Amino acid sequence: MLGALLVASLGGSLFLKFCSIRFLRIPLNNLSSDLLVGDVFTVMPAGMLTILLFALLKAALVSAGWSDFGGTLSNLLAAPFSTSSNSLLFSIGYETAAQVLWLFGIHGPNALYAIQLNVLIPASQANMAVVAGGGHAPFIFTEGFFPTFARMGGSGGTLSLILALLLVSRTVRGRKLALFMMLPALFNVNEPLLFGLPLVLNPVYAIPFVLAPVVQILIAYVAIIADLMPRTGYSIAWTTPALFSGYAVTGSFAGTLVQLLSLAAGAAIYAPFVRMTEYLAAKKGQEVLASLLHIAESPETSLKAKRCLDLPGDEGRMSAALAGDLEDALTTQGQIFLEFQPQVDFRTGRVFGAEALLRWQHPLLGRVAPPVIVTIAEDVDRIDRLGLEILSLACRQRSVWRDVLSDDFVIAVNLSPRQLLDRDFHRKVIDILQREDLPPCWLEVEITESTMLLPDVNAIDNLKRLREVGVKVALDDFGMGHTSLHYLRELPLDTVKIDRALADVSPGSVNEHIVKSIADLSRTLNLSLVVEGIENERQLKRLSALGCERFQGYFFSRPLAENPCLEFVVDANRERRFVAREERFLLNDCATVRQP
Ligand code: C2E
Ligand code: MG
Ligand code: MG
Repeated sequence: MLGALLVASLGGSLFLKFCSIRFLRIPLNNLSSDLLVGDVFTVMPAGMLTILLFALLKAALVSAGWSDFGGTLSNLLAAPFSTSSNSLLFSIGYETAAQVLWLFGIHGPNALYAIQLNVLIPASQANMAVVAGGGHAPFIFTEGFFPTFARMGGSGGTLSLILALLLVSRTVRGRKLALFMMLPALFNVNEPLLFGLPLVLNPVYAIPFVLAPVVQILIAYVAIIADLMPRTGYSIAWTTPALFSGYAVTGSFAGTLVQLLSLAAGAAIYAPFVRMTEYLAAKKGQEVLASLLHIAESPETSLKAKRCLDLPGDEGRMSAALAGDLEDALTTQGQIFLEFQPQVDFRTGRVFGAEALLRWQHPLLGRVAPPVIVTIAEDVDRIDRLGLEILSLACRQRSVWRDVLSDDFVIAVNLSPRQLLDRDFHRKVIDILQREDLPPCWLEVEITESTMLLPDVNAIDNLKRLREVGVKVALDDFGMGHTSLHYLRELPLDTVKIDRALADVSPGSVNEHIVKSIADLSRTLNLSLVVEGIENERQLKRLSALGCERFQGYFFSRPLAENPCLEFVVDANRERRFVAREERFLLNDCATVRQP
């Protein structure tokens, strides 16, 4: 106990110390679906070094004549098997005990070495002697039997797990991990999977980890009893690759066939647990994503701090994994795309524009909310690249719609304040417009009030230069965050968008007064006013009564993919769906275009 306590406390502290050393870390964050896995691979050198130091310490202790703690423990664990004979029951009990020990992170076969020494090695030697003499081997369960038939890929029959991952994993990461593990597992080395996936201390994988080897033992046992396969009569190392080992230890291809059958059975046992693990990981992922969204949506107080990446715990780990994935997504077709939400004008009765909204279909987590994507891109200094990609996509789409939509149809693109720090930003936008041959007045950029937090002159300069060439500038989410009416005068603006939190205006409410003031002021300053987040007719009527004329919200349409959006705009404008007549809106049609 003293030894264990010493090792535990000293080992933990040493390991943490090594982990903090930069050159001892492998940057492999996005290898697996489990948030912990990236960390586990990253700190592997630190773990190995800790183990090495303890090995040296142990060697020093042994050479100094200290007793062997491991041997004593092994004898203790093997005691229940001391009277066993070489039977099926014994073999299932032995293998189950070994797997259960592994589930707690203890090397099962090593801890039960006394059994190997007392039962399995003698059985192997007896078999080999008889087979060498041309006779029939007497024992079924030998030292070579377990690594060959029950531990293909390592304890727990993890080659079957790798097969299951390859066959049923719904995630690129799952399959990537399986491929990564294939080579060591062929030589029955599975520690990265045991601690990395992880199997150790994982209640979901506990059942197949114990069950698969037991079923595989039964398959080999039945094959031997039914005389379909010879008993093990040759000596092999535990690292002998699966499929070859079956042949080598029995001297027959039947050994290989039994291994193939066992692998398939093991994969079938693991498969539902792979799915269950991925389902649970996705569920947990959604919870962490929701918490990240909450953080990303909270008003910024400084534009310098990393808001997600430096978070402790799951949120920080998820952010690091997402940052890696975002890098992949930017080079993979289809993961990053835009949806478009129509904006309607009741004065002209037309759909006059659409806001382009960022979407990321993550292969494991599904949709990641745009504020999370943007905040993570900002944290890893990729917002410029992402922002230009979004602008290109939006401008390309507007260009595709060139012949179908009228010239006054504007596409609005959201900007992160940090994009404006690049003094050449305006030039890059103009390049994109030229590349798509798009008149600048077809584009509107949306900034938020946090742009005013920028101490930099480049931000305002960029906006001014964009306006000079004709690009429109909108102030988004006005009325929330650090609202000041001064911004309406200080920023070079064409449009003000009232935040959806203010769209609920009951008569006499504070919101009503705020909206009315903003509407009056924007009229005085000659700014176009759009109210966001209209969800029902009541809101629309109240806001219209306050002098608002332009709207965006689920009541008209949710954000749509490009073709449905085009269809919506063309139909609505042809039918003059949003023309207000005799103080009554023709809104019946709105309901037909709303989506669930
Ligand atoms: P935003 O620019 O204010 O965009 C409007 C958001 O409100 C969108 O959410 C839209 O789907 C949602 N919305 C529209 N109508 C309604 C409604 O009637 N009810 C409710 N409850 N919501 C409505 P989304 O797409 O999740 O985007 C959230 C925010 O993420 C955006 O707010 C914007 O700040 C940011 N964002 C989105 N796309 C981009 C982008 O391409 N670049 C940057 N920098 N930020 C983006
Ligand atoms: Mg916006
Ligand atoms: Mg907004």
